Amino acid sequence: MSGTHSRHASRAPRAVTVALPIGVLFTAVASLATLGGPLATPAAETELPAPAAALALPHVEVAESRAANPCGDDAVRTALKDGDDDAVVAAFGGGEAFRAAVSVGNAPCISLADPDRTWVVVNKRRPLRPTEFVPDALTPVSLRSTTPSDRLRPEAAQALADMADAARDAGAGTLGINNGYRSYGVQQLTYSSHVRAQGQDGADAGSARPGYSEHQTGLAIDVIACGSGCSGLDAFGATTQGGWVAEHAWEHGFIVRYEHGERTTTGYMPEPWHLRYLGPELAAAYHHGGFRTLEEFFGLPAASDYAP
Ligand SMILES: [Zn+2]
Repeated sequence: MSGTHSRHASRAPRAVTVALPIGVLFTAVASLATLGGPLATPAAETELPAPAAALALPHVEVAESRAANPCGDDAVRTALKDGDDDAVVAAFGGGEAFRAAVSVGNAPCISLADPDRTWVVVNKRRPLRPTEFVPDALTPVSLRSTTPSDRLRPEAAQALADMADAARDAGAGTLGINNGYRSYGVQQLTYSSHVRAQGQDGADAGSARPGYSEHQTGLAIDVIACGSGCSGLDAFGATTQGGWVAEHAWEHGFIVRYEHGERTTTGYMPEPWHLRYLGPELAAAYHHGGFRTLEEFFGLPAASDYAP
């Protein structure tokens, strides 16, 4: 995928910038040691390079970080205070700039653990905090729903409605929903019903434990294909709607959160129906960067299983 190349390309220049001063420093130190005369040479030449490299690397990283820390920017501060997540990302310089700053630890004002933000990351190693978090605002989604869990945060609900219109206009059929926001209490019931049906290992492969579900953020939605009736979740990936969503969800601010072949990172079997709202800028950066997991996108450790 082209994205793999662009990711590497975007990282390469940074590595060169860091490596160059170390090389220069090392050469300078080695030269000085040599000039110091025969007595100093043997020990100095063998011992100096390691400490010089070890000390120089963090030093250069810190200097670079301070110079570019976007959190000091007035526009970023104002947007954060206003709770305007799209404006925060824009003030960083767009989705890729935001991702890059956060993933190298260069954005201390951004918390990927803040469940009020569209960039929150919830997985088997990152429970919601507080565990019984409830979003400030939830609104019913305008699509047909096969369960009572039909609410999302307003920005995600609007984006989903727009996406369903676009799918219909493209001739990809009608989208419906199965599950949007689920509270901690509802997740307890959902997870325990999976445990009863499949045992704990089976349940953990496809259902989050209470307090660990993206659905509790109000930013995740399970979509289904509807015609005269609606199909179930498992059928979605093979439908016209499923193919369209895989290709176009990012254009509406969503990503397919649990892709095929990524269980060792996400902890879940593929779920082509489970969409996560990230906002238009971050979803575009995710798509154009060729990312397949949110963990990789933000440089986080894999979360294949719960902590022992
Ligand atoms: Zn889901």
